[in-house]
Amino acid sequence: SIITNHVPTDELQALDSAHHMHPFSTNDELGKEGVRVITRANGVYLTDSEGEDILDAMAGLWCVNIGYGRDELADVAARQMRELPYYNTFFKTTHVPAIALAAKIAELAPGDLNHVFFAGGGSEANDTNIRLVRTYWAEKGQPDKNIIISRHNAYHGSSVGSASLGGMAGMHAQGGIPIPDVHHINQPDWWAEGGDLTPEEFGLTRARELEEAILELGEDRVAAFIAEPVQGAGGVIVAPDTYWPEIQRICDKYDILLIADEVICGFGRTGNWFGSETVGIKPHIMTIAKGLSSGYAPIGGSIVNDEIAKVIGGTEFNHGYTYSGHPVAAAVALENLRILEEEKIVDHVRDVTAPYLKEKWEALTDHPLVGEARIVGMMASIALTPDKASRAKFASEPGTVGYICRDCCFANNLIMRHVGDRMVISPPLIMTPAEIDEMFVRIHKSLDEAQ
Ligand code: PLP
Repeated sequence: SIITNHVPTDELQALDSAHHMHPFSTNDELGKEGVRVITRANGVYLTDSEGEDILDAMAGLWCVNIGYGRDELADVAARQMRELPYYNTFFKTTHVPAIALAAKIAELAPGDLNHVFFAGGGSEANDTNIRLVRTYWAEKGQPDKNIIISRHNAYHGSSVGSASLGGMAGMHAQGGIPIPDVHHINQPDWWAEGGDLTPEEFGLTRARELEEAILELGEDRVAAFIAEPVQGAGGVIVAPDTYWPEIQRICDKYDILLIADEVICGFGRTGNWFGSETVGIKPHIMTIAKGLSSGYAPIGGSIVNDEIAKVIGGTEFNHGYTYSGHPVAAAVALENLRILEEEKIVDHVRDVTAPYLKEKWEALTDHPLVGEARIVGMMASIALTPDKASRAKFASEPGTVGYICRDCCFANNLIMRHVGDRMVISPPLIMTPAEIDEMFVRIHKSLDEAQ
């Protein structure tokens, strides 16, 4: 078959271009540019069909936290497929992998976040959240409390509901989103939007936009505020220190549910198990996916607190996915969490790997192209600028510096993501100091070539 036999790269590319529609891509251009066919991976390296080794500084799509090539996960998946490849958790049935995973997540999650509603990934989980919070308030006798506030340039997924929560302009331009009763406030991106304010002043100003929106929309109409503890796909935007305490104060004051979208930040990415712990917030709901299974199987979910679970439990919640709590995905996720815990990967990130990375990352501002360098744990961004003093922007269109830089990385066998004027990384958490050094060799080479 095409999977097991060696097929020349150009034939694979031709078939791909003829039949495969790629997400977030101009599909007509793929055939011309020639996509890279990734065939294997181990640790932090991918291998393509030409035998090139590529350093994956993005951990796939911010997800392969334990790195590639862990046989334990493959063994668990094979065992589970033989024993019980599928069963659902609808209508009074359940199974051991879903039970065990929910219990483990409840143990790891902070506070009274003790209940998990499973989904196939982050988009589905955020769709669940929309219905969960609205059902919650309706059950409490406040059906009009249904507006969800989010942020421009947030990413919460690609389904109609989750992309509506998200604030990506390019996504809102296609396919009839946002859905009604979703409202967006500005993001806390000081470098791009802070003007003359100090980061501290700017953080407060942006947080208080939440309060202004609540007052404008009516506190009896606003159900929830959703945000990523550190915006990922928007360009690794780290809020100033003043931002999150103010957001927490406002949510508490107006009785607004706080949803932390931990799809990227969860499971060690920020140096704690959850990004909420890193930024010091106490959400009522967390969205999880990606690092939950390190991407080895598609699974996500919503973790909700005791109070919400109790209220939702009192009604029939007419919602669920065929693959909610899929046994193979749940078993793989459980094994991934075992590895993260037993190998103390999160502690190691916080105490050793992230500090090592941070020192080198922040030194990137010595490069003429780099204005700001931000990093939290193992997610980081640099802002490219033609003029550091004025925090000027490059034009953001194909052919400009960000795109050139991305192409240079690609040519230098380094996967680094390009978002507007920013270049971002989110490497596997198990990256060693020697691999970090090698990554910086390739980053410097790519930046020099892009200049
Ligand atoms: N939420 C956040 C913060 C994400 O970064 C993503 C994906 O990148 C999603 C939700 C959507 O998750 P999925 O692609 O698994 O549907």
